[in-house]
Amino acid sequence: MEIYLDSNATTRVLPAAQRAALAVMTDDFGNPSSTHSAGLRSRAVLDSVRATARRVMGASRGRLLFTSGATEGIHTAVLSALTSLRHRFADAGERPRLLLYGATEHKAVPEALQHWNDLLGTHLELLAIPVGPDGRHDLRWLRAHANQAALVCTMAANNETGVISDLDGIARALQGSPALWLVDSVQALGKLPLRLDDLPIDYAPCSGHKLFAPKGVGLLYVRDGAPLTPVFTGGGQEEGLRAGTENMAGIAALGAVLSAIEEGTVFQPSSMLAAFRSQLVDALREAFPELELNAPLDCSLPTTLNFSVPGLSSKLLLDLFDSAGLRVSGGSACGASKALPSYVLEAMGLPEWQTASAVRLSFDASANSGMIHEACIRIWTCGESLRSNCLTSEPSENLTPPELVTRFYVDGACCYLVADPASRRCVVIDPLPELTAQLAQWFRCRGYILAAVLDTHSHGDHASSAHALRNALSPLQREPDDCDPLGWPVGSEAIALGQHRLTRLAIPGHTKDSTAYLLHRGPTLSFAFVGDTVMPGALGRSDFAQSAPLAFVNSLRKLEQAVGPDLLLLPGHDYDNRFACTLRTERIAQPLLARALTQQTDPREFAVAKADLERDIAATAYQTMACGARVDKCDKEASVELNRHGFEKLLAEGKRPLLVDVREAFEQRWFGLVPEFNVQVPCQAAPASTIVNLFQSWLAQPETPVVFFCRSGNRSAKAARALRRLGASQAWSIEGGLALWPEVTSDVAAGSAVAMALE
Ligand code: PLP
Repeated sequence: MEIYLDSNATTRVLPAAQRAALAVMTDDFGNPSSTHSAGLRSRAVLDSVRATARRVMGASRGRLLFTSGATEGIHTAVLSALTSLRHRFADAGERPRLLLYGATEHKAVPEALQHWNDLLGTHLELLAIPVGPDGRHDLRWLRAHANQAALVCTMAANNETGVISDLDGIARALQGSPALWLVDSVQALGKLPLRLDDLPIDYAPCSGHKLFAPKGVGLLYVRDGAPLTPVFTGGGQEEGLRAGTENMAGIAALGAVLSAIEEGTVFQPSSMLAAFRSQLVDALREAFPELELNAPLDCSLPTTLNFSVPGLSSKLLLDLFDSAGLRVSGGSACGASKALPSYVLEAMGLPEWQTASAVRLSFDASANSGMIHEACIRIWTCGESLRSNCLTSEPSENLTPPELVTRFYVDGACCYLVADPASRRCVVIDPLPELTAQLAQWFRCRGYILAAVLDTHSHGDHASSAHALRNALSPLQREPDDCDPLGWPVGSEAIALGQHRLTRLAIPGHTKDSTAYLLHRGPTLSFAFVGDTVMPGALGRSDFAQSAPLAFVNSLRKLEQAVGPDLLLLPGHDYDNRFACTLRTERIAQPLLARALTQQTDPREFAVAKADLERDIAATAYQTMACGARVDKCDKEASVELNRHGFEKLLAEGKRPLLVDVREAFEQRWFGLVPEFNVQVPCQAAPASTIVNLFQSWLAQPETPVVFFCRSGNRSAKAARALRRLGASQAWSIEGGLALWPEVTSDVAAGSAVAMALE
């Protein structure tokens, strides 16, 4: 069962609100502007909702307009304030010159200010009102600037942190100021008394969908006497101030919610909500002992929690919570691979790690103790899942043994950890400074010995963090430091890792010291770590001061001799999530590489052709250290998505697909959910970070379709494309991920292929 903890984003629609909406869509569906009985009944609904809203918002006076939501209300208020400037201040010299908005406002506010200021040519200066570490406005700053302000916008409560503004203090700071005052009341309505009659607020926009009504309905309060310029004109609705036939279903639904708030029977009192939040905080602290709250609880909405955990990105926590059926949101906007820092937390002056890794948990006022209890249990389980994967500082009893190769990925750069569970020895290849703490924790938690930290070359763009990683470990956890500049143990032919062993091969070109590390098991090669010499779709640059461009061509030939066409090459950079390549795939993708390997190309000619290509690539601003055919187009365009119909077609063709869960082990361990099919399908766990260990086994069975899935379909599509590129034509990704497919619980967490009876 899904537990929805993202109510500041939107809420479900209250059953009473659904019934009210249905009633005006089926029975009282008249147009409220019509004068016949059907219209009059509709008008009565409209009037009654407005009257209820007045009581709930404490606004016995002023106008209350129905809008499509808060964004429309904000735009109407800003347009009104700016268009009134000319007649409010006939003397241009006396016109205020500032537009002030809280630094933590919802983006709709500064965007509306900028939009109308540009469009109307009012040329006012937009200034953000600073906030303190508690997220509240700096009232001294506001007082100092209030006299020059035309409009001041301050939200009643913040959507990311729940911080409640000191509206009385702001009102005092604005005393004597010519500014109109807009209070974005979206997050406050229904949670705090708004007291619009008592405060000199000119505009208060609200939104229905944050309060159990459907999306697309809202309210705008406008104080008596405050300027009001319609955004829409037309049929004269709302006394000509907001034209367009009213959204009666939304309005009726909002009315039912407002009545429920007024009656006080459906929603929990504030004290109960605060108790629920304390329970959640306790569970979170137990699960993640190093957690930091990003806003003080005593001045924030009792339904909102914003926190960060050192060392855990918001993306990781979101994936983890989602896999536990807890729907929470990043306190910051999450990009595809990297979370953008939260401007709200930045404005509060929080450290960078907190602003970039925030998680917001928000529930609604209809929460009950059963649901909160279940959420707490799942939060504890999430903590245990992280511990058992060494992702927190305290180790767990139930550690999952590591795979042979684990890939860590930071902004296109790859670092590999090669681990042997039998001997508990490990080698790290191409360490990255961003990973030092995480890797050190990995070793501490598992008690493995670091046999070597190797670099595939001396890096042009960053210093090796090998030294930092060694220093982060106790001397007992690492082998003696007697090694060459790339980390290779002096005097050793090979590094032993249980049944595996690593050897090295000099391949100068990208740099003079470029080296490949070959991983053997007995007489067989398992992988080659090739650094930036060969990357999927690209060859490493060779125009650095420390490059050896004339040696490149011979190094490629030497590599081919050592590894053959089909060994998986693991690169130092992988900008397109290809994971691995082989010389066979790269011959097809990179004509330059093919030329080097097939013809007796002169090293000098090759270096010139490569330099030309590098210049072309620099001209297209391709942000890599690479050169070559960066992405072969057909590969990007080939569709790997499989919908239900496509899956059934595979079965109808008599194929026996293998389902592969590419979510990380911490997401899979406790919550083995797989898409629901009505047939038996074998299922396998292959987290993206260790997927390279399984590519060869899938490639060895070309007749078996491999169907990857994950939470959203993003990671699984990357995996499917990577496998296709390595030569498998039957690699697929479940379209939309688990989010769009009915899920059933399976034993996939066990990590082995299991057959599931799915009905
Ligand atoms: N203001 C705040 C504080 C919000 O949280 C939101 C919604 O995210 C908005 C404004 C925009 O509201 P609407 O979606 O109704 O336009």
